[in-house]
Parts: sequence; C-alpha cells; structure tokens
Amino acid sequence: MGADARPLGERAAGGRGAAWPWTSSGAPCPPLPLLSFLFLFLAAPSVRAAGYETCPTVKPNMLNVHLVAHTHDDVGWLKTVDQYFYGIHNRIQHAGVQYILDSVIASLLAEPTRRFVYVEMAFFSRWWHQQTNATQDVVRDLVRQGRLEFANGGWVMNDEAATHYGAIIDQMTLGLRFLEDTFGNDGRPRVAWHIDPFGHSREQASLFAQMGFDGFFFGRLDYQDKLVRKMNLEMEQVWRASASLKPPTADLFTSVLPNMYNPPENLCWDVLCADKPIVDDRRSPEYNAKELVDYFLKLAKDQGQFYRTNHTVMTMGSDFQYENANMWFKNLDKLIQLVNAQQANGSRVNVLYSTPACYLWELNKAKLTWSVKQDDFFPYADGPHMFWTGYFTSRPALKRYERLSYNFLQVCNQLEALAGPAANMGPYGAGDSAPLNEAMAVLQHHDAVSGTSKQHVADDYARQLAAGWKPCEVLLGNALARLSGSKEVFSFCHNLNTSLCPLSQTSKSFQVIVYNPLGRKVNWMVRLPVSKHVFLVKDPSGAVVPSDVVTMPSSNVQELLFSASVPALGFSIYSVTQVPDWSPRARPPEPRFRKSLSWIKSSSHVKSSLHVKPSSRDLTIQNEYISARFDPDTGLLVEMKNLEQDLLLPVRQAFYWYNASTGNKLSSQASGAYIFRPNRQEPLFISRWAQTRLVKTALVQEVHQNFSAWCSQVVRLYPGQRHLELEWTVGPIPVGDGWGKEVISRFDTTLKTKGLFFTDSNGREILERRRDYRPTWKLNQTEPVAGNYYPVNSRIYITDGNMQLTVLTDRSQGGSSLSDGSIELMVHRRLLRDDDRGVGEPLLETENTGLWVRGRHLVLLDKARTAAVGHRLQAEKELLAPQLVLARGGGTPYHLEVSPRKQFSGLRRELPPNVHLLTLARWGPEMLLLRLEHQFALGEDMVGNLSSPVTLDLRDLFSAFTITDLKETTLAANQLRARASRLQWTPNTGPTRKPSHPRLDPASITLQPMEIRTFLASVQWEEES
Ligand SMILES: [Zn+2]
Repeated sequence: MGADARPLGERAAGGRGAAWPWTSSGAPCPPLPLLSFLFLFLAAPSVRAAGYETCPTVKPNMLNVHLVAHTHDDVGWLKTVDQYFYGIHNRIQHAGVQYILDSVIASLLAEPTRRFVYVEMAFFSRWWHQQTNATQDVVRDLVRQGRLEFANGGWVMNDEAATHYGAIIDQMTLGLRFLEDTFGNDGRPRVAWHIDPFGHSREQASLFAQMGFDGFFFGRLDYQDKLVRKMNLEMEQVWRASASLKPPTADLFTSVLPNMYNPPENLCWDVLCADKPIVDDRRSPEYNAKELVDYFLKLAKDQGQFYRTNHTVMTMGSDFQYENANMWFKNLDKLIQLVNAQQANGSRVNVLYSTPACYLWELNKAKLTWSVKQDDFFPYADGPHMFWTGYFTSRPALKRYERLSYNFLQVCNQLEALAGPAANMGPYGAGDSAPLNEAMAVLQHHDAVSGTSKQHVADDYARQLAAGWKPCEVLLGNALARLSGSKEVFSFCHNLNTSLCPLSQTSKSFQVIVYNPLGRKVNWMVRLPVSKHVFLVKDPSGAVVPSDVVTMPSSNVQELLFSASVPALGFSIYSVTQVPDWSPRARPPEPRFRKSLSWIKSSSHVKSSLHVKPSSRDLTIQNEYISARFDPDTGLLVEMKNLEQDLLLPVRQAFYWYNASTGNKLSSQASGAYIFRPNRQEPLFISRWAQTRLVKTALVQEVHQNFSAWCSQVVRLYPGQRHLELEWTVGPIPVGDGWGKEVISRFDTTLKTKGLFFTDSNGREILERRRDYRPTWKLNQTEPVAGNYYPVNSRIYITDGNMQLTVLTDRSQGGSSLSDGSIELMVHRRLLRDDDRGVGEPLLETENTGLWVRGRHLVLLDKARTAAVGHRLQAEKELLAPQLVLARGGGTPYHLEVSPRKQFSGLRRELPPNVHLLTLARWGPEMLLLRLEHQFALGEDMVGNLSSPVTLDLRDLFSAFTITDLKETTLAANQLRARASRLQWTPNTGPTRKPSHPRLDPASITLQPMEIRTFLASVQWEEES
C-alpha cells in the first residue's frame, strides 16, 4: 500500500520514455560494457562471509550512508496484479512494473557502481519469463555481481496480522524456489524486507530465522515505540521470536528503517515526485548543488545519531518508483560524487550505493552486543487515535475463502504426492496444483488477505483463488480414481455453507468420498443438503451407519447428517441411498441425545421438536462431554459445563456493534479498511434477546438463535464433541441510518483474569496480552477499545489459572478482552468513510447490497493445565478439515484386473498427536517436499507428555511411496540445512551457541517442541497392483 502522506509530485505527462535505448529498441540487448566487469575487481573485498562477497567498500573512520535504491511493488492494491504489471489504468495510480524492471536493468548497465534491490517474485518471475535469453544472461551477471540484489524473495511481501503460518511458509517457498532455480546461490536473499506490513508478528520473525535469513528490515511500528527506540538507541535489536525454540534458532537481527521506506524529504527523484533535481552547473540560475549537499550532510548526521554504528541507511525509492530509473540514478550519481567530494574539505560522511544485505554485513562486523526483544509489534498506530486494528477483520468473506483455500491446497498437494504422476495426467485431463499455489501466495500480500485493497481488486483476488481451484479439482479426480481404483463422475459442492449441492439434492443415490488430510484418523460429521426423503447411509465395509435429516431454520432445506470415520491421510467412501416408499412421518421428539442410535430418522420428527420461545423453560443442549444452558427468557447462552472435568462457568454470549467513528474533536480519524475507531467505548446490543428454536436429534443438538433480520446463530453439539460450536450469520449490515457498524461476538464470564488474555501468532505460538499495556514502553493509551485489539488467527483465550475459556476461529479476526473475564471477536464490519490511508474507498462490501457472512467459533472450557491439548488438536482439525467429494457411483474400474477400494490411508501408522504433517507436496518428477511439525509449545501440556520431544521413523511411514533418499533443508527448502549458515549476533542476554546438525537418520527424526523440520525426499511410488 501507500507510504506516508508526503504529497506526490505531478503525474508524468505523456511523451516520457525513449530515454533508454536498450529497452525501447525491442531488440536483444547490446553486449555489456566492459566496465561492468571491472567493477567486481574495483570493489574486491577482503574477507567476506558467504553471500556478502560483492558488497561495496566502506570507510571505517567515517559515517557511511548506504543508499538503497528500491521500489515497493504491491501485488494488488488500488489496481489488480495484472493492471500493476502491465501499467493499465494509470488514472487510478500511475504504476507499471514491467517498465520499472526494464528501466532499472538499463540503468544498472549504464553505470557499474549502481545497485538496486528487488523484492516481489510474483512480478519479477513474470517479467523474467518474458525476456530474451540475452537479457536473461545480462540479468544473471548483474545478480552475480551483487548489483541487482533480491531482498525477502517471497512471491509477495506478506501481511503479518491476517496470515496463517502455513500459508506464509508456502508463499516464501514459492518465491525463493524461483530465485534458487533461476540464479542459484547468487540470487538467494540474505535479508528479509517487510517495509510496508502494518505491524509485525513474532511468528513471522521466527519463520524468517528458520528460513536462514541473516536480518530483517521493516518500516512501520507504533509511533510511541519508535520515539522510545530512537532515544534508547534500540532501532536495531535481536528479536528472540520463539519461547520454545532454543536460541539462536528463532533469533533474528531486526532493524527499523529510519524513514519507513521512503527517501528523505526533498530527495525524491522519481517521476512520481516533485523534488528538484540536483543542478550542479554553477552558471545556472537554478544551481542548488551546494544547498542540497549541505542539507544531505546534516540529514545524515541527524539520522546517524539514532543508530549505534557508523553506518546508516537511506531508502531511495517508494511505491512503484523507478519506472524512469534514469531520473533516480542520475541524481544519486551526482549526490554521491558531490557529497564525497566534501571529504577533501574535512567532511566525515561517506555515501555509497549499497543494499540492505551490505548494510547488515557492516553492522555484523561491528561486533556489538545487542538488546533482545521478545514480544511483537502489534498493534500498530501511526498517531494518537490511529490504530490499524480494523484490518484484522476487514473483508471477512475473503479471509474465510483464503483459509478454506489453504485447506484445499494442502489436500491437493497431498493427493498429488500420494498418487504420483497419475494425479497430473489421468482420466479427467491435466491436473495441476501450481495455479492454486500461486493464487494462495498472491492472497498473502499485505493488501490482499488483509482486506485493504479496493473492491475491484478484492474481487480479482477471489477470482484468482477460484481459477486455482479448478485444476486442483481435476487433480483430485485423477488421484482419487487412481487410489480408489474407480473412475467416477466426481462432483464438488462449493456452496455447502449455504446448503446448496445439486448432486446430493437431486440424486436417489450417491457416494460421499471423505478425504482426511491429517496424520491421524478423524471422525467427522458430514452434512449435506438433500431432498425430502429418508436415506440409508453405508460405510466403506457396507455396514449401515446412523444418519439423520434435519431442517435448516431459515431456508427449510433438509440436511443429511452422518458421522464419517476416515483414516489418516486417506479417504473413506460412504454410499447414500434414498429409502423407497418411506415417506416422512411424525415421531415424538427425542428429549436428549441417546447413545443407542437407529439408522432411520424421519425429517418431520425434527420439526415437531422445534419450538418457539418461550414454550419451554429448559433450554439446554448436552452431550457426554459438554452442556450449554440458555436463559429461557432471553435465549442467550448463559452457562457452559465441561462434564468430563466437572467444570462449570457462567458464560453469557451476545452480539454487539460499535458505531464507527467518522472523526471527532480529538481527531479527524475515521474508522476504515485499515483503522478501527469506535465513536464510543461501549458497543450497542444488536438485540438483548434472541428468538430461539431447539433441535434435538440423535446426531445433533442445536439452539437456533435469531437476534435480528441480519444476525442469527446456531449453537451446536454433536455426539463426542468436546467443544461448543457457534455458527454465526451476520449481514448484510444495514447502514441506511448513516452509521458504519463493526459487529462483535462477546463472551462474558466470571473468570478473574487480571487484565490478561492470550492470542496466537499466525496460528502458532501464543502471546500474552495485557490490557492498556506494552511490554517495552509505557503506553499512552488514546483508544481504549481499538488500542487493545490484537490479531487472532486461530485462537484467543482467558484463564484464571484454574479454568480456561478458549475460542477458536475459522479465519483471522480482531479480538480483545476489554474487561476481566471477557473475550470479544470482531466478525464483520461495514463502513461509510475512508480512513485516509490511500485505499480511497469506504469498506462497504458492496455499495448497494452489503455482504452476508457466515462463520464459526468453537468454544472450549478446560482446566488450564490441560487446555492446550484441546485447543491444539481441535485447531488442527479446523485448519485441515476433511474434503468432501461426491460421485453418482457406478463408475468404471481404473484397472480392469484390480477391484476398487473404499478406504485408503497414505500412512502405515498414525502420527503421534503432537506431530502435524505441515507439508506433503510434489517438488519434482520423483521428489516430494515434506514438513513435519511439533505442534505443542514447551511446557504447554502440563499433565501429559505432548510437550516432550517426539521421534519418528520415516523409512516406511508412507504407504503410497517409498523414500529412497532424504535431505534436510531450511524452512523454505532453498538450501540444505547442513550447508546453511547464518551471521552470528551477540545478544545482551549472553552469547548463544551455534546449533549443531547431527547426521540425518530417517529412522530417527526427532522434533523438539514447536520445531518444524523440512525435507526433500526422493521417492518411488508403489506400482499399481
Ligand atoms: Zn505495500
């Protein structure tokens, strides 16, 4: 997104261009000037760490100013990805990435001391594939010589608040793989570069460290935090980013850039800026060189005093700059020459073309001891009353679609790995996981899943996901046919969240293939819309399983329910058949869940068990583990019991809305896509009571709550479930009254929580939050609500030390605990004003109709000591839920001589509960990418041993293929772990020891708490037998 609010200059008029003959000719590029090759020798360093050989020479006894020429190219924001790449719709924003890269390469060739940094592989790889071989060779040389340096190197510069760690790892892997394949070691980024994301998560730093980055640069942090850091000389620190991993595994040197990511004032020499170029001709009435040099010298010294070494960095570039790179470079050439000429007059300032990595290398050589940071950089405020906590929730439907697509991509990746080449080419055509992998990578961009793009761009993100699903569906068909041995007409129901599925609603019989992407068996309640009939459901062995048909409250649609049991990393095929001559008939309501189940349930008995408030005083649902009681007068949830652990907690849950600020006398700041700012602290009830209906059948107990025309909820318990499920439906949020609304679900309990609550970091480790408090500076709180909001990617909880109430989410949301015993999550928002951070649209989604959003909160009540077992395992099940695929049945055999199978597991034995199969994906013709993760933190499971190290034998773990060779890599799989080395830093907490890498033994792979291990496995698939 946009940088700070510094006014941009006039837009370039037409007729620019033709200034760089290399690109305008359209012909293959001319041979490199000899001079460029001389450069390497001129800049020849003494002893350099690997990856830093090409860094420029500095002057040890001067203040060295590292000029970093860079462009920040959003992978979609005000324009779509393609519009940015090609330079379309320049009226919306003047930006064309293809021209930026053309122009930069020409300018680098023109002068060998120039350097440039590029970041976003979504753009660079596209540009690269459009170049001639000759141009590609020239660019390879520039990369080898360090004149073109890649920083970060992910497909995108991902958001850090609304992203899940699995998707972050995937998108970084995609970008870094392109660099590794294209440039080898020369192209491998040494530094992470998140100059624009709106706050920084601790997990992101941990992942970067595990990917092998030497340092991390960013631009945005809380304005109060920044002031304190400047005063304390703590703009640069070691970030200890994991409470579980042994230092320095997750230690990352972190540098806050001085001016976000912009050039200093008056020194922006882009076509998008209006600053004066350097005029060094003394005869010109416009001569300004001396004035600018004096200004620069003062600037450098002023800036340098906030950093600890005799090096300082200046970011010379910004959003989509360098489309005419010559303008920038010509002035930077002059600046360097003029400023350094002052050294003859006693100046102690040395200015040079540099890169983030080369700046970092100088800091490392300074051999200082650095202070240590252990919390994170959320929430971000760029001024009083300006908390960027709205985007934690903005565009909740897109956020859910992204999370659902993560689930589907993992299923697609796994089946591609399990079925082998048969998945890519089979009876249904060419199957491919790459398009969804790329679309998911794009969605991680800091204006995509964050919800901060323009509406037409958000629509395009959704389009990219949808387009990615299609070749994955072909792949799933191919793989399932191969693994089940039967060629069926497969069908995918994309609208199950609105009870739509043509095949199950019109067929008299059909098959349900349930694929389980987890490393352990699951039992899953299948729900499918069906016609008004009675059905017989049979499991893979042909045995009839209990099933039920319930009526959905609002739509009158019937849903078939049955519990499917699915083996680890495999599938079970269930058959569903309409029972002929069984017309629905009335049955007496069943008072509660019974353990003995009959297979047949009429649909009408369900209706008879529904009732409208207040026909009964007892409003309770219960299974063998959980009971939830509702106030018969208000219809609200008021109490929850964990029957197994004998815990009772009053829990009152209701929906409220904050009235979005449009600015007031304290600040003109309005609530918008980025910023959350309620106009008063207390939210308003959507309704103080709900109209309720109770559904109790053998397979489900539900309380349907209707709060208003645009807010309802189903509170649900299935047999065997250890959590309470709250499925909320909110929207379209009415704004006809002129008020923007931000809707929350709030749980109020009697727990004494002392201002503390806990939120996850990108779905992984947990951070403690304290109301109106920041761990590293004394907070002057200006927004008691918005300033206490944090990203919740998967869970939030409160505890009194004895009991713990945890809420799991199905997408990223903003959340907080604004009073003791309370948890709130923002589920939806619709706003009438723009918040003035560049997007230029109010978050209306969409202007006329508004958006209807459905989602789920899973609530767990546990003893604090054992709570982690519940929320870790349940969150894993939510993230990688089973995938349903339907078929009419009666398909033809895949191989004539082989009989079809109705159940399959890709594992010979289940994974232990503390091991998560994070990645199983194709990497090459006979190569797989495998990531195994310990999903518990150190000491988290206080009773059992799930927080202990765990050891696996990989040799015969998988049934579909044999591992013939195993190599361990760093987290993003772009370098072998044994050969990877990172710069070492000395924290003020004492030196850390370089981690040792014992010999890799596939028979004994040990995972420490929260450790992820990444492998490239050569495999042979089992012959079709
Ligand atoms: Zn950006």
